[in-house]
Amino acid sequence: MTTHRYDISLDVRHAADPAVDGYTSRTFIAFSAVPGADTFLDFIHGGVHSVFLNGEELDLGFAVDGDRIQLRNLAADNEVIVTGTALYSRSGEGMHRFFDPADGKCYLYTQYEPADARRVFANFEQPELKAEFTFHVAAPSDWHVASNGAESGRAPLAGDPDASTWDFATTKRMSTYITSILAGPYFRAEDNWSTVLDDGARLEVPLALYCRASLAESFDAPELFALTKAGLDFFNRLFDFPYPWGKYEQAFVPEYNLGAMENPGLVTFTEKYVFTSRATDAQYEARANTLMHEMAHMWFGDLVTMRWWDDLWLKESFADFMGTLGVDRATSWESAWVSFANKRKAWAYLQDQLPTTHPIVADIPDLEAAKQNFDGITYAKGASVLKQLVAYVGFEAFINGSRQYFREHAFGNTSLADLLGALETASGRDLGSWSRQWLQTSGISTLSAEITDGPGGTGSIGEIMESVLLRQDSVDPATGRQEHRPHRLKLGLYDYDDGDSGALRRTDSLELDVDGPLTAVPGLAGRPRPALLLVNDEDLSYAKVRLDGRSEATAREALDRIDDPMARALCWTALWDSARDAETPAELYVAAVERFAPAESGIGVLLNILGNAATAVERYVPAAQRDTVRSGLLNTAAARLRDSVPGSDQQLAWVRTLAGVSRHDGGRLGLLRGLLSGTEDVAGLAVDAELRWSLWQALAANGAATPAELEAELARDTTASGREGHALASAARPDAAVKAEAWQAAVESTALSNEILGATIAGFMTAPSGMLDAYIEPYFDCLERVWRERSIEIAGRIVRGLFPAGQDLPEGTAPEEHPVLLRTDAWLTGHADAPRALRRIVLEQRDHLLRALRAQAVPR
Ligand SMILES: [Zn+2]
Repeated sequence: MTTHRYDISLDVRHAADPAVDGYTSRTFIAFSAVPGADTFLDFIHGGVHSVFLNGEELDLGFAVDGDRIQLRNLAADNEVIVTGTALYSRSGEGMHRFFDPADGKCYLYTQYEPADARRVFANFEQPELKAEFTFHVAAPSDWHVASNGAESGRAPLAGDPDASTWDFATTKRMSTYITSILAGPYFRAEDNWSTVLDDGARLEVPLALYCRASLAESFDAPELFALTKAGLDFFNRLFDFPYPWGKYEQAFVPEYNLGAMENPGLVTFTEKYVFTSRATDAQYEARANTLMHEMAHMWFGDLVTMRWWDDLWLKESFADFMGTLGVDRATSWESAWVSFANKRKAWAYLQDQLPTTHPIVADIPDLEAAKQNFDGITYAKGASVLKQLVAYVGFEAFINGSRQYFREHAFGNTSLADLLGALETASGRDLGSWSRQWLQTSGISTLSAEITDGPGGTGSIGEIMESVLLRQDSVDPATGRQEHRPHRLKLGLYDYDDGDSGALRRTDSLELDVDGPLTAVPGLAGRPRPALLLVNDEDLSYAKVRLDGRSEATAREALDRIDDPMARALCWTALWDSARDAETPAELYVAAVERFAPAESGIGVLLNILGNAATAVERYVPAAQRDTVRSGLLNTAAARLRDSVPGSDQQLAWVRTLAGVSRHDGGRLGLLRGLLSGTEDVAGLAVDAELRWSLWQALAANGAATPAELEAELARDTTASGREGHALASAARPDAAVKAEAWQAAVESTALSNEILGATIAGFMTAPSGMLDAYIEPYFDCLERVWRERSIEIAGRIVRGLFPAGQDLPEGTAPEEHPVLLRTDAWLTGHADAPRALRRIVLEQRDHLLRALRAQAVPR
């Protein structure tokens, strides 16, 4: 079957009336089929009005089967017209409708991936079934309306003095999941980018940016346009294929479920990237990374698209890699690859150790599984492996292969074999075994150096090493088998600059291929032992690293003296992994953070380790020590807040830590109150809306803020983020009645939007030890019902967010015998037939819990 053309008309004129829950959606589709064959359309609707197939009206009782419209006895060339009512969404799936609490204005945008276009118009929901799309939208005349194609006409609507119809240019061939509509009284800024192509022609690309009108004051459009132009310059040259989608517009939209979406010509982003309160440089860098990621998709994903969701990684890994490369090469940030090592890879490592991990090339039997595959494997492990592939075939061959791939498959669909074929041609290397070992297995290799001392050696710095072996340990969590992979990596030798008081600098670096369980490192035997031997220096490969005993001691004594930011980040990761893997007591990690974080100059790394320290305190430190360790971290945060450079990102990081840790410790409530009232003045610290809410949340969690005070704060901050801040603070109050109400709102009622639901759950879960025990049984009881009755986005937030994760290991109990773990196992055993996607979330939460209990059980 081949789809040719869609012509879609949507009537959202009455969206601003909250009493109207749907809108008319009319779809025309021209497609070819085998004569006599049957097929069906997908349409999740609030009523189908009519279906015409090849001019004949179908009997709806016969044709409409729930969310499917059956089309029988097709001709060779067919035309179908479906008219129905589609529903506005509050879950961020389909056509999301948002009322701005600041001014009451109504905003619409669409979000489809993987399969929610069918919530807006009837279609063949499959990435392979590409077509040309023409959209028409009827909307209030004073709105902005945008789609993938440029606006081609606008006319007042006959009979409705306040409305107009927008027509949009027909698109090139593309998949349903990247079509897009934006409508509302958005703020709009315009600019333009152009370049001269190889043939001398000029490529003109009109640019636009959108955000809600009430955010316009905080919208740094000039900065975003500058990044956009830098990215378009970079990718046009790199891919050697002119930007194919005409215009390039970017919209920052409310209550967005993800970071951004690569709709051709109209990319949507979370409006959390419009910084209304003070943001760190790491947040600006992350936004630039997302911007570059989506832009890379215009070629990889949009121009050339995976055939089916099992090759989702093809586009996501590539875009993740290219997003980081774009920030590194086309902007002034120098920390792009450190951030990648520090955040993206951490995400992959975490996911790849879960029992539910999967090969990068995944088996995706259905759309629920597709939705869940937007995970750390598909994005971050895939991108790490691509980075390894670039090291393996060389950057030039990688880019030449990619260019060939774009030219050959433009506006078409591909699978993994097509990309590997192009890269093999460009590099002259056989990628079959590389692909098998990296893409078709699961799990992460742990690499460690085994150093044999010379005679009489004691493992001290400077003693002669007799031999160094690299050990690879790599059990696939899915199969239990050892999966040794080939790694191209570096070993870095670091020594103190000036006796043992100076900086730790790299004195030498060895590049080598590692394969199999043990690899002898040539060139190290007979040399003096360095203070720090860093395996996977420069972060070329994808692997977990265990430091040898001497190197770990060096890291714990002098991590702040390592001068290379990437090496420091890798040591932080090694220490964190050793706590997460229950090899060392988690309070040692917290101690390292308290000691070395004040000197950490990389703000991304600092935010990350402070977040890890907070997790370590609440989850991995045993109950008996928790209060002491937490109060140490709190005191450090309060002290560092005072002595950080006024107005610095570091100061902001410490005050956020102060507020976050205070949710569980009332020791500094006076300081928090003082910051709110202005009686405590910290030089350079702007106590802005976001910070105020985190201070209120900490007070509320300690029972030290009244509902009236929280209402007063909400009256002061009437924005959407204010409403979320208020929802979290309100549900965080340590009162059984408050918790009961929050549970009811989250689980039993359907009134909350995706974001308010998320805030309510976060507040509910902020509770003193034991207060939520009464919800363990209700949690397991509601799982299947929630999964059945709620959309996958909302159900996922409930099932993941309300799992009873914060558990203490009683003295003398084995982690595996913890009652909540046993209760989870009982549910899993008793619900073997529950939907796979639901079981996946429960299995993952079980694994996080078991990991936390094991960390608590480490002998102290
Ligand atoms: Zn992406």
